[in-house]
Amino acid sequence: MNPEARKPFIAGNWKMNMTVAEARKLALEIKNGTLNESDDVEILICPPFGSLYPVSEVLKGSAVKLGAQNCYWEENGAFTGEMSPPMIKELGCDYTIVGHSERRSYFRETDEWVSRKARALLDVRVSPIVCVGEVLQDREAGRTNDIIRGQMLGSLDGLSSEDMLQVVLAYEPVWAIGTGKTASPEQAQEVHAFMRNILIDLYGLDVALRVRIQYGGSVKPENVTALMGQPDIDGALVGGASLEAASFLKLVSFKTGGID
Ligand code: PEP
Repeated sequence: MNPEARKPFIAGNWKMNMTVAEARKLALEIKNGTLNESDDVEILICPPFGSLYPVSEVLKGSAVKLGAQNCYWEENGAFTGEMSPPMIKELGCDYTIVGHSERRSYFRETDEWVSRKARALLDVRVSPIVCVGEVLQDREAGRTNDIIRGQMLGSLDGLSSEDMLQVVLAYEPVWAIGTGKTASPEQAQEVHAFMRNILIDLYGLDVALRVRIQYGGSVKPENVTALMGQPDIDGALVGGASLEAASFLKLVSFKTGGID
C-alpha cells in the first residue's frame, strides 16, 4: 500500500472560543481562502457546538469540512448538556474529536469513554479523531511509549480493521498544547512511528499504512512544513493558530512553506 494514500489533513480545534458571528466570519474567510486549494489536502474546522449549524451553512459549496469537539455515546435520553453522534451528524459534521487531553484532564474522561464515543460515532458514519498524548512528567520519566500504548489500546478497544480505516489518530503531547513548546519534528516522528507500529500489531500492515496520524501541539506556520515533512506525520490538529484565518490558511498551504 502506498503511504501517499494518506491525504494530508489539517484540522482546526477552535475550543471554547468565538461568538456565532465571529465563528461565521472566520469560517467564511477560511472558505474564501481555500477556494483555489488543491484537493490533495483535507481541511477541517471544529467550532463549539452552538456554532456548528451556522458554520455548516457558511461552508456550503466549500471543500472545508465540519467537525465537533466532543460527543456522548448514547443516541438520546437524560444526559443533560450532552450531544449525541446522530445529532452531530445531522448538523453536517464529518468528524468529531474524542479524548482531547483537555477533556481527559478537566472532565476526567477515560480511555473506556473514548472508545465508547468512537464506537457511537462510527455507527453513524462520523469519523472520530482519537487523541492521545503524554504529560511532561511521563516524558521526563521515560514513560511516553507506555502511556501512548495504553491510551491507544484503551481508546481503540473493540474497533475492527474496517472501523479503523474511518478513524484518525492525533498525537498531542500535553506539554506542547497551548504552551508554545512544539515537539521537534524528530520527537514527533518517533512517537508517530511507534503508534504506527502499534497499529501494525493490532490491525496489520495494510490498515496501519492507511490510518492518518495528526500531530498537535503548538503547530504554527513557522513549524508546520518541517513537521509535515516527517514520514509518519499525516496532518496537524491545531488550536491557537486555527483561530485566525491568516495563520490557518498558511498551515493549509504547508506544502509551499507554510509562511509567505
Ligand atoms: C489542540 O488543542 O489540540 C492544540 C494542539 O492546541 P495548540 O495548537 O494551541 O497547542
